[in-house]
Formats: sequence, structure tokens, C-alpha cells
Amino acid sequence: MEVSGLDSDGKEFKNAEEMWREQIGEDGEQQEKKTQWYREGISYWEGVEASVDGVLGGFGNVNEVDIKGSEAFLQMLLSDRFPNARNNQHLVALDCGSGIGRITKNLLIRYFNEVDLLEPVSHFLDAARESLAPENHMAPDMHKATNFFCVPLQDFTPETGRYDVVWVQWCIGHLTDDDFVSFFKRAKVGLKPGGFFVLKENIARSDIF
Ligand code: SAH
Repeated sequence: MEVSGLDSDGKEFKNAEEMWREQIGEDGEQQEKKTQWYREGISYWEGVEASVDGVLGGFGNVNEVDIKGSEAFLQMLLSDRFPNARNNQHLVALDCGSGIGRITKNLLIRYFNEVDLLEPVSHFLDAARESLAPENHMAPDMHKATNFFCVPLQDFTPETGRYDVVWVQWCIGHLTDDDFVSFFKRAKVGLKPGGFFVLKENIARSDIF
């Protein structure tokens, strides 16, 4: 698909290939430029306050409607794919690029017995650990945040067969196209039989700003 676009400095690219060539380079220089691409991604978030408004880029007011929409979608999937969940089935989710744990706290921990969080920015993960400590959340008994992995998605391989749901929201755009594909290939082994990925992103049809 040939679609032109602008970067955040207003520079125009004819298509995605041209953008990637400039960002991560041709094969030879790829590793160094790619490292730089990831470094810039992380350093942006290292300068952001560990709050709902921070992880939502100043759109904290979107939190409620986002969680409501996700909850309706998740309920549909759960009743369709895990009709026996209420009968003591032990459900486990992974929250990828979890930030401060907004999605886990407001949604996942209510439906899953265990949630693991993966987040490369340590001050976000520290905030998540604190707000998901058992005394600070209202989830049902025995529901808990178990593991807090401080790694980026492109370096992560999950434990085999641990997850019913791998939730990836508002962070996949940080990965290069090849890392995007290889993440899903690797992460597939982390799913239980019948488990699934949820990928939630926003796509603007036109320039909304
Ligand atoms: N999913 C969370 C946070 C969204 S903000 C929510 O909806 O509330 C985007 C998050 O992606 C930030 O926490 C940022 O640190 C994380 N991120 C940045 N680069 C990443 C990478 N390479 N792998 C995984 N997460 C990354």
C-alpha cells in the first residue's frame, strides 16, 4: 500500500519504505540506526510524568471511554472463547507496553487471575508496581499483578504457554516493521491453546491536528 505522510517535524515521505530508509537506514547501517530509533523512543517516555495524562499524551480524558470500549470487546471475546471461565479456569494476561499499568488496573485485573506487565521505562513500571500492590487495588480476591518485566517488546520472549490473552495497546508503533512481525512470531509460543492477541491502535484517516 502506497501512502504518503508527514513526520512530527512536518517532513513529507512518499511511502513507508522511504520513511524507514531514513529512520533505520539501508542494511549496512541498520543496526546502529535501529539502536538509535529505539533509544529515542524510550528517551521520549523517560521525560514523561508517570500519570494517566502522561501515558495518554495529554489526553487523560480518553481513559474512561477507552476502558469502556475495551471492556465490551473483552467481554465478547471471553464469552465466545472462554465460556467456562467462571468455572475456576485460571486466566492469565500480559499487558505489553503497559506504562503505569492503566489498562491492567482499570480492566485486565478484574477479568484475569494473573496479569504480567511489560514496560521498558522503569519509572512507569515502578508506578505500576505501586498502584497494583494488593492493598492499592480493588480487584477480586486472588486476582493479582504477578510479574513486572522491564524490557522492550523487541527483546521479549514469553514463557511458553503462559497467557490466555496478550494485550498490546498504544505501543506497537514503537517497533520497526521487521521487529513487529518477529515479536508476534515469538510471542505466539506464549499463548495457551485457544489464547489470543489483542492489538489496539488508533489510525487517523486524515490529519486531525
Ligand atoms: N499501553 C499503555 C501505555 C501507552 S503509552 C496505556 O494505554 O496506558 C506507550 C507506552 O509504550 C509507554 O509506556 C512506553 O514506555 C512504551 N514503549 C515505548 N517503546 C516501547 C517498546 N519498544 N516496547 C514496549 N513498550 C514500549
